[in-house]
Amino acid sequence: MPKITIDNKEIEFKPGQTIIQAGHNAGIDIAHFCYHPAMSVSGNCRICLVEIEKMPKLTIACSTPATEGMVVYTKSEKVIHAQNAVMEFLLINHPLDCPICDEAGECKLQDYAYKYSVGVSRFDEMKNEKDKRVSLGPNVMFDQERCISCSRCIRFCDEIAKNPQLTFVERGDHVTIETFPGEELDNPYSMNVIEICPVGALTSKEFRFKSRVWEMSFTDSVCPGCSRGCNSIIGVRNNKILRIEPRENLEVNDYWLCDWGRLNTIKNVNDENIRINSPKIKLHEDSLDTEELIDVNWDEAVSKAASHLKKYESNEIMFIASAFSTLEDNYALKKFAGEIFGGNRIFYVPFTDNAFGDDILRKPDMTPNSNGLKLLGIKELDGEILTELKSGKIKVLYVLNADVSMIPESESFLKHIESVILQISYRDNYSKNANVIFPVSTYAEINGTFVNFQNRIQRLNPAVATLEQERLIGEFQLSRWDKMGAHNDRWTHGTKFNSRPGWKILKQVAKVLGYEFNFANSEEVFIELCSGIPGLNGYDYDTIGTTGIIAGTNVMAETN
Ligand code: SF4
Ligand code: SF4
Repeated sequence: MPKITIDNKEIEFKPGQTIIQAGHNAGIDIAHFCYHPAMSVSGNCRICLVEIEKMPKLTIACSTPATEGMVVYTKSEKVIHAQNAVMEFLLINHPLDCPICDEAGECKLQDYAYKYSVGVSRFDEMKNEKDKRVSLGPNVMFDQERCISCSRCIRFCDEIAKNPQLTFVERGDHVTIETFPGEELDNPYSMNVIEICPVGALTSKEFRFKSRVWEMSFTDSVCPGCSRGCNSIIGVRNNKILRIEPRENLEVNDYWLCDWGRLNTIKNVNDENIRINSPKIKLHEDSLDTEELIDVNWDEAVSKAASHLKKYESNEIMFIASAFSTLEDNYALKKFAGEIFGGNRIFYVPFTDNAFGDDILRKPDMTPNSNGLKLLGIKELDGEILTELKSGKIKVLYVLNADVSMIPESESFLKHIESVILQISYRDNYSKNANVIFPVSTYAEINGTFVNFQNRIQRLNPAVATLEQERLIGEFQLSRWDKMGAHNDRWTHGTKFNSRPGWKILKQVAKVLGYEFNFANSEEVFIELCSGIPGLNGYDYDTIGTTGIIAGTNVMAETN
């Protein structure tokens, strides 16, 4: 491989790479605003100017190809002088309104002002005034005064979202960004411009002015919006999710998320009006009054569920798994169905919408874990199961995270059902008819794993605390993964929902039925389930890492 020397460090580079790419690959950060690794080079911000031996003038590192034997300096006197000048130029008309800017605390311009600016301006004229509140589209606001004209947002729309909706207008210090006449910044990926904007010019209408970023906690997660499983970071304040941002994973989602995933995977988690916030049982078993569910404590609900299950023969009970739930929860349900009720009366209902899929990230399979269910050997609802359900032999449904009324032809078998036990997070069309409801924690509140369309196992971490986690803290019973998460105020402030992980509820019901499940935390469930799958034996949460791992020798064909 050819070699280049940057700041006296000799590094290898791939032919065709620019100086900035060679440096970044070797862990050498070269200042940049307009350069983005996923987009074309525009070379307009000039902050990446570097000195190259034998070249008379400074040159920009983002567009200059690295060549064999090239010697580059990024911290020489000339370079520092140029960086000072670029920062002074960029700040001439900048409003310096960091105290009211959402970006403050995570702003490249702010960071670079400390790092590369002399901290003094010679400009004592009136600054340009521009519009500070321009609605570019349904999700994005634009502050013209903060824009440094890097063109990242324009290039993103052209090159990544394939929707050229933004452009520069005017010239010189009047230059600004606009949508084309009659157009809005409204494409399925529009909100990515918020993070790639290196300043606070583009902000999220959803998140605007809700929190200073240093008052939030940030947790690595995975979007549950479709089978892509985009890597994300959940931002929380006072135990409420305020925003979701993309987390770089070049194997899955590059640097992006879709707007649907960002907006629709947080509302329900926060919504006290639709969350189930206590175990519930039906007050009068034979009552036809569907509203007669009362709140009870966990022990009462567990013993009620167990007594319902004991009343029936094993072959009268059907278990419904969920592609919205983790591997751990589905494994526990399969074990519960198999070991206690001896049989394989378990299925899940797929949820696909071809109109949702596209060629960028979004997949038609709008569940995050259907490949996880395949890995566990849980089958989709098919004609055979439907016939069994409709035959009237099945009297009890034990359901994980599914709206029973949405199952195809549900009216034709629900009339035979005498008892329904639900483990769900949200009220749904059917929940008022249930006999027992257990509130199950959402993806944002648990440790767990999903398997995406590529068969990549990816990790969820608890970003929001539940009463259960608070109880475990009190009893010093946290798993090592919970301990890692219990480092900030979300564990002590804010409303907490009274929910538990699905596997834990199943373990508790199993115990009352006389069966001991040996796992004590989600990682132990994962280790146990992996031990039964060829190729995954010996996997634990460390094996998965932060960007996921393809499922061993079990690699199945990619799905939608
Ligand atoms: S709005 Fe942001 S991303 Fe777009 S050109 Fe201005 S500074 Fe760059
Ligand atoms: S593409 Fe799918 S996984 Fe990615 S953000 Fe959108 S809904 Fe979520």
